[in-house]
Amino acid sequence: MPAPRLEIRLDRIEHNTRTLVDRLQQLGISVTGVTKATLGAPAVARAMLRGGVVGLGDSRIENIERLRAGGVGATMTLIRSPMLSQVERVVAHADVSLNSEPAVIEALGAAAVAQGLTHAVVLMVELGDLREGIMPGDLPDVVAHTLRVPGIELRGIGTNLACQSGATPDERNMGALGALVASIESSFGIEVGVVSGGNSANLDWAFGGADPGRIDDLRLGESILLGCEPLRRTPIVGLHTDAMTLVGEVIESKVKPSRAWGEINETAFGAARPDTGTDTGTTRRVIVALGRQDTDPDGLTPPDGMTILGASSDHLVLDVGAADCPIGAELRFGVNYAALLRSATSPFVMTALSGAPAPDLPVERATARLAEAADQPLR
Ligand SMILES: *Cc1c(COP(=O)(O)O)cnc(C)c1O
Repeated sequence: MPAPRLEIRLDRIEHNTRTLVDRLQQLGISVTGVTKATLGAPAVARAMLRGGVVGLGDSRIENIERLRAGGVGATMTLIRSPMLSQVERVVAHADVSLNSEPAVIEALGAAAVAQGLTHAVVLMVELGDLREGIMPGDLPDVVAHTLRVPGIELRGIGTNLACQSGATPDERNMGALGALVASIESSFGIEVGVVSGGNSANLDWAFGGADPGRIDDLRLGESILLGCEPLRRTPIVGLHTDAMTLVGEVIESKVKPSRAWGEINETAFGAARPDTGTDTGTTRRVIVALGRQDTDPDGLTPPDGMTILGASSDHLVLDVGAADCPIGAELRFGVNYAALLRSATSPFVMTALSGAPAPDLPVERATARLAEAADQPLR
């Protein structure tokens, strides 16, 4: 099978989705499944839909178009503010978008009218993470404006935390969002359909026994795909943390001294290397054909008993201890969010899907591939 490849266990993604959907349902919260870390892979989207998400979200219109082209039927939300240069594509392919700029909402409305459509918007409110969002004091003006834009339906109000600054969802900021919603509803005499409280970083708050109040939807990606929450990256009980695995192939395997020699200066990527430290005799060093062009090496978990010594653009160097790693052997690595994202978007990494009912097979391509050979579904 081709390497490197990202192996995706669709049955585990479905299980993770269903588990989160069931637990959140008890709190009156629905789940929008976020596919951006898999480049909008239709099979992953379908696994999330089988698991019970009410809709799909992605940050890139290209990925939403890919989902549509892949025949995925679901409400699609663009979860990054549309670019003015893309509003036509956005209204054509996304049902909903998250917005914080009146100029964008006007352009979306004009594009929707031109296409004979209505486009729904969720207004994002800034609650302390300092990424996207309308300052709370400005929300009434933006609501008033949005309600007047032809072609636009105000679908909901939302927020996003813990992405830029690590500002953590809690009773205070979630309560503030609920209070804003209530005050908008009473001053405008409208009903806010969706209150989108945040992302996987909201799960600690949601499962921590707090009253969810007005929050009735969360946009979940990482927790579904990797089975962990992103604040402390702890595994979530009952979820699979190994739905995604990166597989690389051994291209050199030799016993070498533990210490580099010669005058030592910067490496290809600047940092000092552990192999310039204490001399521990000799080690079996293995090179896997996997590098910074394929993944984020800092986000890989090597097989038990092995240590990652470093990585450059194309080479991942490991101390494999006593393991036997012949040339051509495959090593399997766990991925964190950064490693997953980079692998899914690298043109060098094939995607291999397994564990899906028949219609999701065979394998889909993660992006425009350099290699022409189609990869095979895993058995
Ligand atoms: C990426 C993203 C999400 C999903 O975040 P996860 O931590 O992967 O659950 C939700 N909302 C917005 C706005 C995002 O950009």
